[in-house]
Amino acid sequence: MKMYIGGQWVDRDEKVPVVNPYSGSQVDTVPRGSAADVDAAVTSAVAGAAVMAEVPAYQRYTILKKAADLLAERTQEFARTITMEEGKTLAEATAEVGRAVQTMTLSAEESKRLHGETVPLDAAPGIGAHLLGFTVRVPCGVVAAISPFNFPLNLVCHKVGPGLAAGNAVIIKPASDTPLSALKLTEVLLEAGLPPLAIQCVTGPGGAIGDALCTDPRVRKITFTGSRDVGEHICHTAGLKKVTMELGANCPMIVMPDADVEKVAQATVSGGFSNAGQVCISTQRVLVGSQVYGDYLDALKPQVEGLRTGDGLAEGVQMGPMIRESDAARVDQWVREAVDTGARLVTGGDRSGTMYAPTVVADVRPEMRISCDELFGPAVAVTRFDTIEDAIALANDSVYGLSAALYTQNLDWAMKFVRQVHSGNLMINSSPQFRVDLMPYGGLKDSGMGKEGPGYAIHEMTELKMVAFH
Ligand code: NAD
Repeated sequence: MKMYIGGQWVDRDEKVPVVNPYSGSQVDTVPRGSAADVDAAVTSAVAGAAVMAEVPAYQRYTILKKAADLLAERTQEFARTITMEEGKTLAEATAEVGRAVQTMTLSAEESKRLHGETVPLDAAPGIGAHLLGFTVRVPCGVVAAISPFNFPLNLVCHKVGPGLAAGNAVIIKPASDTPLSALKLTEVLLEAGLPPLAIQCVTGPGGAIGDALCTDPRVRKITFTGSRDVGEHICHTAGLKKVTMELGANCPMIVMPDADVEKVAQATVSGGFSNAGQVCISTQRVLVGSQVYGDYLDALKPQVEGLRTGDGLAEGVQMGPMIRESDAARVDQWVREAVDTGARLVTGGDRSGTMYAPTVVADVRPEMRISCDELFGPAVAVTRFDTIEDAIALANDSVYGLSAALYTQNLDWAMKFVRQVHSGNLMINSSPQFRVDLMPYGGLKDSGMGKEGPGYAIHEMTELKMVAFH
């Protein structure tokens, strides 16, 4: 496909191949964008922002709603594209398209709800008595939307939807491995009637074009989803801009002794292995009370071994490949390292190219990399604890804080967990991997800052002006 800059689909001689992670075959190519392309995109976006600032809320609503409807009509086509470029199963990809339709619909609705508020200046002592105060929300202007590979459509919608709903122009920088869904979304937005300069989609390697985009002073807002280290780099280089950072995690799930271990095992399979564990809120660290430790592992092993792995396009496959062979090799190395230093391989631990077998490692200690770093792969690390205090200390023993979960029927334990665990999302009786697109979603600590979910993100895509009538 071509990239979209300045109201034109443009190509370049230098290409980046888009590869099917399962078969290794080339799906397509995209142009290798340069700093000059970023400069052209920002120049067009500045003009696009001026156009968008004049587009009334109702028209922004109709454009985004139409885009949601078009996405829904093309579910199968989009799902196939996601599977081909990302590797997840067709069922997972279809679910992602369904969520993207929701995200765009919610964004459409939010365009009609953006407003300021009155400010009671007469409540200030002395000088406020006859003043009228209110706030006005205005778009930031040019928004850079930088997205990761693992949800190549819905996570782009979480940026583009609220960005346009708020009246900005948006420049998409999709992940280098998975640019096709974002380019197709650009087509859909244009077909839905978006002013051409309001959207740009620049493809190419993150380092070169990402830095050019993030350092450009005409970009007023950066919304980034990706790894902790790239997020931190952007925070250093961006200068004085608004930023939203949706970063990584090593999510804990605490299993108290009163939990139903069969149910928890099922939740571990869906929360730990969907999209081959490449989900920011994947269940990574399972912390299990000593009393049910053995029973939990006995319940988990056959369920993990029953997962059908393979080509995401094939019927009945439940887990696809990892995005790159180097990532599968990294997961393999971290699992081996854990086992070599005293952990126990319960099942899995095999690799073939990008396919890494669903893996369970028990007796994991917190300092092992499989526990303390973000694994982002199809393995769970199981650790034993004795008391709720120990479990909460283990859950908090991380630089991250994106999602955490607790299984129990005991309200006191649940309240303690809610009060004491430092995490942006807290799940009771579910795995950490729960998200619906309307909820405020974002991490604490090194998992980032700011919230997504269109009703929340739209505020982050605006500036607040204060008006006082004297
Ligand atoms: P990544 O950090 O490697 O890349 C993310 C994006 O940043 C890509 O588009 C990449 O091209 C771009 N990029 C790279 N260098 C850049 C630079 N110098 N300047 C600007 N942009 C640059 O992440 P990934 O491997 O694509 O995705 C996996 C990571 O994303 C994991 O850490 C995962 O936890 C995280 N993630 C977080 C959330 C969340 O909502 N918190 C959701 C999904 C994924």
